[in-house]
Amino acid sequence: MLMEEYAKRIANSLEKMVELSIEADNVTEPPPPKCPHCNTINPTIAVQEGGGQGSVNTFIIRGDCTKCGRTLYAVSELWILHPKLESAEMHIAAIKKRMAEN
Ligand SMILES: [Zn+2]
Repeated sequence: MLMEEYAKRIANSLEKMVELSIEADNVTEPPPPKCPHCNTINPTIAVQEGGGQGSVNTFIIRGDCTKCGRTLYAVSELWILHPKLESAEMHIAAIKKRMAEN
């Protein structure tokens, strides 16, 4: 391979890496959940769930917003399932840390 061609390929690779890096920086997280009644962001809700069975991605969580007291129904488009409570709690801790930083 000619030296010139080799240098051109390296330059193209670097340009591609820069493009990918810019794309990665532009990835935005979904907006935080908002109470549909009082617009509280990431509201605290009181849940009184009973039993139930169904595929996890069709679960609806019925809760009462602790700020306005009205009932809301939570649907998640992205469930992350953990094999142990400890790893789920670590995941929540990471989410809380990320929220505190923003
Ligand atoms: Zn509310």
